[in-house]
Parts: sequence; C-alpha cells; structure tokens
Amino acid sequence: MIECTWCGSAYEKHQLRCDNCGGPLPPLPGASAGEPPPPAPRTVPAPFERRIRYTSNASFMAGAILAGVGVIQGIAFTGIGAAIHLKPFLYIGPGIFVLLGGLGLLFLRHARRKAEGTLRAFREGTAVVGEIAEVYSDTSIKVNGRSPWAIVYNFAAGGRTVEGKAQSWDASAQDRRRGQPVHVLYVAADPAQNTLWPPLK
Ligand SMILES: [Zn+2]
Repeated sequence: MIECTWCGSAYEKHQLRCDNCGGPLPPLPGASAGEPPPPAPRTVPAPFERRIRYTSNASFMAGAILAGVGVIQGIAFTGIGAAIHLKPFLYIGPGIFVLLGGLGLLFLRHARRKAEGTLRAFREGTAVVGEIAEVYSDTSIKVNGRSPWAIVYNFAAGGRTVEGKAQSWDASAQDRRRGQPVHVLYVAADPAQNTLWPPLK
C-alpha cells in the first residue's frame, strides 16, 4: 500500500503520480531521483500543509499536549489554591504545571518555525540534486511502539555542502541507500530550510 503524501489517497501499487491530486509520489528506493520539481512558485495542497504543520509535526504534538495540560492545570490549581487560601510555598505544585505549559509553548514555537521553513522550501525553494548519506531507525522517537526512519541527505548550496534530514514512517525507507540521488528544495537565503522532493510519507 502506498499513500500520496500530498492528499492522502492510497494505492495498491507504486505509481509515479497521484490520480486524485496529480502530485508526484516518491520514486521507488534504488531508483533515480525521478522527475525534477516544477519551477517556483509551487502550490502546496491544503492537506499536505496541515500534515507539515500539525499531524506529522512531532514538536507540534508534544507542544500542544504540554501546553494544554500545563496551562489548564496550572490555572485550575492556582485558582483552587487561591480559593482555599493555600500557603504560598504550596504553589510549587501548580508552578511546575505552569513551567510545563511554558515548555509546551516553546515546542509550539519551534514546530511553527520548522513547518514554515519546510513550506517555504516547497513553495519557493531552489531545486538541486543531492544524495542520501544515511538511513537509520530514529529510536529517539516512539509513537505506539514504532520509530520512524531518519533519512539524512547532503546537497550543495552556495558553495558548501549542507545536510538535511527527513523522517519517514514508511517501511520502504529502509531500502533507500547511501549515494542514491534525490531532489532537494532549499531556501536560497537560508539553506537550513530544505526538504526532499517529492516528500516521503
Ligand atoms: Zn494525491
């Protein structure tokens, strides 16, 4: 089963282009880099933008949970504490919740910056052919007992080699090999904002 990264349509077998939205799908592992990206400015389909910003954004998920729990609990406990005339030193408990909430907000800010950099690379990035440097199971992240694949790639921008990293939950990622050519889009003013083209699931 292969899923279109742009709109979520699922197909039984691998194909190069999505029938539903027309978006290019990642080429099979070991294959060439495939069709180059169209010239900028590129349109980013709404379901794909949501995925980049929220549903596939681990920092956003972690931040939303921390901020939600932290802020709501912190306010609730502080309110209850005030209502029952709690001694000031007992505010350490709710204080920790407020700190968690603050940490959550930092995660959310990081998530938004990361998503905006990636979307900018998709919309207006310069296209270049890079190559895969490393593929490994990223055990620092676990969701329902599963870890994603990290795909590290290198590309040349402004006379130097830049490293990028993509995440994939698709088992086919492990078949991708060092040296395999890939299309990369990067923001000319800040090549740290980059992405693979087509994006991986
Ligand atoms: Zn599609």
